[in-house]
Amino acid sequence: MTRGPVIDGRRLLAHLDAFAAIGATPAGGVNRPALGPHDRAARALLAELGAARGFSVFQDAAANLFLRRAGADNDRPPMLIGSHLDSQPTGGRFDGALGTLAALEVLETLEDQKIVTAGPVELVAWTNEEGSRFSPGAFGSQVYAHGAFPAGWQDAVDSNGARLTDELAATLTALPAAAERPFGGRFTGYLELHIEQGPLLERDGALIGVVEGIQGTRWLEVSIEGQVAHAGTTPLADRHDAMAVAATIIARLQETVMPADADARLTVGRLSLTPGAVNVIPGEVTFSIDLRHPNGPEIERLEAEIIGLTAETAASGGCHASVRTSMDVAPARFDRRLIGIVEDSAKQRAFPCRRMFSGAFHDALFMARLGPAAMIFVPCRGGLSHNEAEYVEPHQVIAGAQVLCDATLEAVAALATA
Ligand SMILES: [Zn+2]
Repeated sequence: MTRGPVIDGRRLLAHLDAFAAIGATPAGGVNRPALGPHDRAARALLAELGAARGFSVFQDAAANLFLRRAGADNDRPPMLIGSHLDSQPTGGRFDGALGTLAALEVLETLEDQKIVTAGPVELVAWTNEEGSRFSPGAFGSQVYAHGAFPAGWQDAVDSNGARLTDELAATLTALPAAAERPFGGRFTGYLELHIEQGPLLERDGALIGVVEGIQGTRWLEVSIEGQVAHAGTTPLADRHDAMAVAATIIARLQETVMPADADARLTVGRLSLTPGAVNVIPGEVTFSIDLRHPNGPEIERLEAEIIGLTAETAASGGCHASVRTSMDVAPARFDRRLIGIVEDSAKQRAFPCRRMFSGAFHDALFMARLGPAAMIFVPCRGGLSHNEAEYVEPHQVIAGAQVLCDATLEAVAALATA
């Protein structure tokens, strides 16, 4: 493959600064909840910047925003590149904005260099990726993937009582110049640049993460039933202590699952017990397990192991256990050709890179179920994200956007003729 044009790093950094000012927090972060006034302002600025360069501006009914740069044959499905503009309440200035503004930089570079691509290239800014104002997250890409609003999602209300449907309507109305388009549609490929949100790239001294997929997540709800009894009068042999059993299960899981497999992640993040009195043996304990792994069959095996260990530990402690699955998101494997294109692009520029899986969800998870998709990661300082201190060095920002540009051009050519 040949190297593409060099992006304008200064312009990209200036755009990142301009968007970081929209919903800026005193601590240097960003508070730009999905579909709120700051999110609308960011969308308006993006649409304005795109229109100024002659790109067509579209939005669908989920407020996913598209900037389209035409190609030689505009009946071809577009090559999609982008990310999201919404943030966590105490979010950083790079999560989402980096991938969105790097995609704008790619379109602008193609325009500056008068490069004619085989088909159109489109920037997409997905609606409500974070999900912290309205659940669930990755709302826009999921609606795009399903081609419709699934029943019940429109009833979502935020913590102040604002309705998703009202906020969505107001957001759509706020961009009257954007042409409406239907959900979904075919695409040639989807590429998303994002900060890693973890420590691996920084630790390895790598500049580019070639992302092979997104690990699967399963949530389990474990319930231990014992018997409420007096803390002072009940001897050990007569106890059915749900808390003692739960503590043993959690300790055994921590000692076995992650130490045996570096790709496995297991977290007990929530626990409740009844009756919750200092001098009463707990009769019931429920706790959550967040289980993640890049490999689907391995998640199945680990779940079976957890269920077996739970039942056995509960029985030996005189209790009864049940395990319920409350969420199951299968791992996504990205497209082999696109992964190769990203890796070659990084190597062409002599950027140190490594292959990796994403530990976090992204819109690319849902796009990968529809067509060829892949992601590019850049390091973030200390692996810190969803935090106002989130930071990416300027040279890392520019390297990531350059790889996005090179890989986009290569993908438009390679995937369109494949
Ligand atoms: Zn993000």
